[in-house]
Amino acid sequence: MTGHWFIHAAYLAVAVVFIFGLKAMASPATARKGIVWAGYAMVAAVIVTFFWPGMENRWLIVLGILLGGVVAWRSGKKVAMTEMPQMVAIYNGMGGGAAAAIAAVEFARGEVHGPAMLVMAVLGALIGAVAFSGSCVAWAKLAGKMKRAYRFPNQRTLSTMLAIIVGWLGIGIVVDGHPWAIAIILFFAVALLLGVVLTAPIGGADMPVVISLLNAFTGLAVGFEGYVLQIPALIVAGIVVGASGTLLTHLMAKAMNRPIRNVLFTPLTGEAQEDAQAIEGRMQETTALDAAATMRYAAKVIVVPGYGMAVAGAQHKVWEMSQLLEEAGVSVSFAIHPVAGRMPGHMNVLLAEAGVPYDKIFDLDEINNDFAQADVALVIGANDVVNPVARTDKSSPIYGMPILNVDHARNVIVVKRGQGTGYSGVENALFYMENCHMLYGSAQEAIAEVIQHVKSMEG
Ligand code: NDP
Repeated sequence: MTGHWFIHAAYLAVAVVFIFGLKAMASPATARKGIVWAGYAMVAAVIVTFFWPGMENRWLIVLGILLGGVVAWRSGKKVAMTEMPQMVAIYNGMGGGAAAAIAAVEFARGEVHGPAMLVMAVLGALIGAVAFSGSCVAWAKLAGKMKRAYRFPNQRTLSTMLAIIVGWLGIGIVVDGHPWAIAIILFFAVALLLGVVLTAPIGGADMPVVISLLNAFTGLAVGFEGYVLQIPALIVAGIVVGASGTLLTHLMAKAMNRPIRNVLFTPLTGEAQEDAQAIEGRMQETTALDAAATMRYAAKVIVVPGYGMAVAGAQHKVWEMSQLLEEAGVSVSFAIHPVAGRMPGHMNVLLAEAGVPYDKIFDLDEINNDFAQADVALVIGANDVVNPVARTDKSSPIYGMPILNVDHARNVIVVKRGQGTGYSGVENALFYMENCHMLYGSAQEAIAEVIQHVKSMEG
């Protein structure tokens, strides 16, 4: 391995900090610290790389860093919490694209030597290009630029054919060793098309799993290119991202009860199925006063936040209401579904921002049995994650997805604006149940009104 010993020592230190940073991110209490450590480590890795022997075009690199840094700083500052998933998608795509671009440059320079290096470079290029174009499609969908999932007949056959062609071109590059420019261009064009064809038909509630999968792909691509460039920090960062992305994908797929195979090839449509079970009952409306009284004189309330709470930015009001209830002797806890909101950890971040203590927040597995003992389940802007159809209706697109058992509570109060469906577009049987009452209104205003009533109630 070339380079000065101190560069390698610094890379090793950086790799260790990355791993500690990631460990710290596992708990909401230390996550912020973990991100800052990993950020400093990345800055150190970039600075150290400038001392790499034979490094050229330093000013061009500085210019690139400055341009990228300004764009990232500005977009990071102004992004709304609800737009975070699409931002993650596009940044992830940039990582994959960078890995593919490194491979393209190395091929063009004829700098990849030996079969092992060529295999790594081709794999990194292929995976990076698929992650790039796939993430761009994911961004377009989440940002509302692409309004629907594009499905076409024989989509699976087309993906398989593209995979075979790109595999064949990749093998050609490895065997040849000094490929023609046209072979390289064709290889990248087909790999990019494969990313689009794989991602375009996916819609509905599957998008988070896809982003996580593409994130794992990006990690792998970066790791492979790190090997080609012989930069250990890149290899470690790539492997860490690849491994954690794979684990997250697995956990999310499990939480939605959707095998990855189904996520990629059997899209959720949200369309009503012909053999769908008819939903019985009628929706019952309630008022802020009734909702306040039901909770104020309850012993145990479980709050279930969802995407609507994020849209309304109601987390501060929700915590204010919970504190008032607790002062009145009510036990209040928060139940978080793994895919509530629009990104992993979405609800945890919002509740932490509002100051809800971590020991009041519980995951689905920890709290699901407690709903049966709860007097009230307060559902704030959540829909799919509390839809009992997922348990009972085999024809439903969300059948099998584990849900929070809010319907087991004595009373359910649902805060939402109107008759809007959730992300999957499926009608919610919960809203028609006898123990369920709808409090219509945007979450922030509705909870503010509840707060006023709770305040005016006697002990
Ligand atoms: P849903 O998307 O299922 O439902 C959100 C509900 O919030 C809607 O029914 C809407 O009804 C209501 N709402 C919207 N705005 C407001 C407002 N201002 N005040 C009050 N209510 C509001 O949310 P869930 O959190 O239950 O489920 C998440 C879904 O998103 C799942 O299907 C999941 O798979 C998917 N997903 C998850 C991601 C993740 O990583 N967490 C990423 C991408 C998708 P109304 O219009 O009537 O107000």
